[in-house]
Amino acid sequence: MPTPTVAPTPATHAKTTAPTAPTAPKTADSEARRLLHELQVHQVEILQQNEELRTVRAELESSLARYVSLFDFAPVGLVGLESDGSIRVLNRRAAAMLGASLSGGQALRQFVAPQSTAALMLALAGGQTGQQGPIELQLAAPGPVGARFVDLEVQAPAMDDDACLVSLVETTERRHAQSELRRARDLLELSGRVAHSGFWELGSEGRRLAWSAMAHEILEAEPGSVVDLEELLGCLADGEVREQLQAAFEQGRQGTAFELEVPVTTMRGRAIWIRLSGAPESDSGTPPRLLGTVQDIDARIRLEQARVGQARAESASREKSAFLSRMSHELRTPLNAVMGFAHLLAMDAAIAAVPQSAQRVGMIQDSAKQLLSLISEVLDLSRLEAGAVVPTITSFDLVSLRNEVAAMLAPLAAEFNVCLSLPACEEAVHAAADRHRTRQVLLNLLSNAIKYNHPGGEVTVQLRDAGQWVEVAVMDNGIGLSDEQRLRLFQPFSRVGAEHTLVPGLGLGLSISKQLAEAMQGRLEVSSEPGVGSVFTLVLPRGSGTSAAVTALETVPATSAARPHRLKVLYIEDNPVNVVMMQALLEKRPQVLFEFAIDGASGLAAARRWRPDLVLLDMQLPDVDGGWVLRQIRADPELSRTRIVAVSADAMEEQQRAGLAAGLDAYLTKPINFDRLLSLVDDTPSLL
Ligand code: ADP
Repeated sequence: MPTPTVAPTPATHAKTTAPTAPTAPKTADSEARRLLHELQVHQVEILQQNEELRTVRAELESSLARYVSLFDFAPVGLVGLESDGSIRVLNRRAAAMLGASLSGGQALRQFVAPQSTAALMLALAGGQTGQQGPIELQLAAPGPVGARFVDLEVQAPAMDDDACLVSLVETTERRHAQSELRRARDLLELSGRVAHSGFWELGSEGRRLAWSAMAHEILEAEPGSVVDLEELLGCLADGEVREQLQAAFEQGRQGTAFELEVPVTTMRGRAIWIRLSGAPESDSGTPPRLLGTVQDIDARIRLEQARVGQARAESASREKSAFLSRMSHELRTPLNAVMGFAHLLAMDAAIAAVPQSAQRVGMIQDSAKQLLSLISEVLDLSRLEAGAVVPTITSFDLVSLRNEVAAMLAPLAAEFNVCLSLPACEEAVHAAADRHRTRQVLLNLLSNAIKYNHPGGEVTVQLRDAGQWVEVAVMDNGIGLSDEQRLRLFQPFSRVGAEHTLVPGLGLGLSISKQLAEAMQGRLEVSSEPGVGSVFTLVLPRGSGTSAAVTALETVPATSAARPHRLKVLYIEDNPVNVVMMQALLEKRPQVLFEFAIDGASGLAAARRWRPDLVLLDMQLPDVDGGWVLRQIRADPELSRTRIVAVSADAMEEQQRAGLAAGLDAYLTKPINFDRLLSLVDDTPSLL
C-alpha cells in the first residue's frame, strides 16, 4: 500500500506554538486555521498509526502462516480437541494417521479401536486435570501388516477454552520391531533349550554378566542371583578349573574366542560337566564385550567315561582271558607228561608189586588230577567273568541227564558211603539250556552233596516242571550250612570251612555253577540248615517237548574189546616227551603200528605215504595250524576212511566245536585221558 503524502508541517511546532490572542473575525479565522492544523496533525498521526498497524498485521499474518505451516507439517500428529472430544483442528500428520478429514469436526474416539476407548477417555480427563504422560492406543483402522498403534500425549490445555491439544506418535513399527525382537529372543531361548545351551553376555567392563533362562537352568541358579563374573566363577569352581575359566575369559577379553569343557559345581552343589564358549564382539577402540554359550555336556562326558572304562575293562578282561588260556595251555603240556608217565608207572607190574611205590605213584596221579581240575576251573571262571562263555541252548530231557550224572558219580557215592536216590519221573522234563554246561553244574551239585555228607547219608535228585521253569533239586541230609556260610558260598575259592577238612576241593565249583546257571537265563538257589542238610536247586527255562540234537564234544565210541588186527596210528606232535609217552602207552596195544611226525608238512606227507587208520593230531604245530593238516587229509580221497582225533592242550570249547565241525572224529584235551584214548584206538577199524 502507498504511503500517504503529508504536508511538511512540523507537528511538534504546531503543538508547542502558543495560541495567539483572539480578535473577533480574525480570531475565528485563526481558530479555524488552528483546528485545521491540528486536524492535519492528527491525520498525519492516524496515518502513521495505520501504517504501523498494517506492518504489525502483516507481521502477525506471516507469523500465523508460519505457525500454521509449523502446525501442519509438524513431524508428530497434533490434534486440537473441543471439550466434548471432537476435533477442532488437526495437522496433516494426524489426519493421515487417523484417516480423518483435515476439516475436523469428528470425534477423536471414533478413530480409536474399541478396546482403547476407555484409555483415551481417561487420558483426556487426565489431561484436563493436568496429569500427563503418553499412553498407547490402538487405532480403529488397521494397517497393511495388522493393527496400528499410537502414543497419545495430552499437552496442557493450550487453547483458549476447555479444549486441549494432543500429540500423536505412531508406534506401530516400534511395536512391530519389539515383538520381532521378543520373538527372536524366544526363538533363541527355544533353540538353546533344544540344544541344551544357554547364552550369556559379559559387558565390556569385564564384570557384569547377563545370562539366559536356560543358562540359569543349567547352572541351577535363581534368575538374577549372580550377575558378577568373579562371583559366578567362585561359585562354580576352585583350584585349577577356576584358573582355567579365568584364563579363558581373559583370553576372550584380549580378543580371542575360546571354548573349553570343564567340570563345575552348580549353585545347588551338583557336579556336572559344561562346555563354555565365548567370542569377543567389539566396536573398534573399545574393550570387547563377550558373547557365548554354556552347554550341559554331563550326560555325554559320563557316557564317554563309561565307554572308556568299559573298553579298558574289556581289554583287561580279554588280556586276562588270553593270559589264562595261554597259561593253561602251557601247564597242560608238562602235566600231560606227568600224568602219562605216572599212568605208565601205575600199570608197571614191578611197581604194582611194591605197595609203597604204588601208593606214591597214586599220590602223583591224584595231585596231577587236582592240578588239572584247578587249571580247568580257573580258566572256566575267568571266561565266565569275562562273559566269554556263550551257552549253546537246546531243548533236552533232564531225566536222562540226571541219570547220566548220577551214574558217573556212583563210584564217589560208594566211596563216601552215601546213597543216591533218583525218584521216578512219569514224563520227560525238558529244559532249554546248554546240556554240556547243565551236566557240569549237576556234577558239581551232586558231588558236593556226596562229599559234604556223612557215612550212611542220602542224596536225592528230584525234578519238577514248574510252569515256564524246570527245577532240579539236589537234596542231602549232610552237614548243612549256617546263614553266615551261605552268604560266602558263591565266592571263588571260598570253601566256608571245608578247607580244614580232608574233603578234597578248590572252592570254585559253586561260583562257576551259579554263573553258568545265570548265563543260561536260569538261577541257582540254596536253602540249608546246619546238621540237617541242604537243598541246592538249579532252575532253568522250560524246553519244548522234543529233544533237539545236542552237540557232544567228547563223544567217543563205547569201549569194546581189543581186536587182533593191525592198526596204523600216526601221531603228529612236535613235543618229543609227548611222543615218547604216546609210544609207551600204545605199546599196551600190540596190534598198533606206531609212527610219528614232528610237524604238519611231514605229518601230511607221512599220512599220504603210509595211509594210517588213525591220525592223532596236535592242533598247534611248529610250521602250520593243526586245522590245515586236518583239511588237507579230509580233502584227500585216498584218506577218506582215516580217523582223525585231535590231541590238544587247547581246552577252549570253541576250538573243540570248530574242530569237530571241520571233520575231526573226536577231540581229546591234554592231559590225555588214557582210558578214552585206548578205547578210541580199540574202536578204530583197520583199513588193512
Ligand atoms: P569245593 O567243593 O571244591 O570246595 P564248591 O564251590 O563246590 O567248592 O563249594 C564251596 C563250599 O561250599 C564247599 O567247600 C563246602 O564247604 C560248601 N558246600 C557245598 N555244597 C555243600 C553241601 N551240599 N553241603 C554242605 N556244604 C556244602
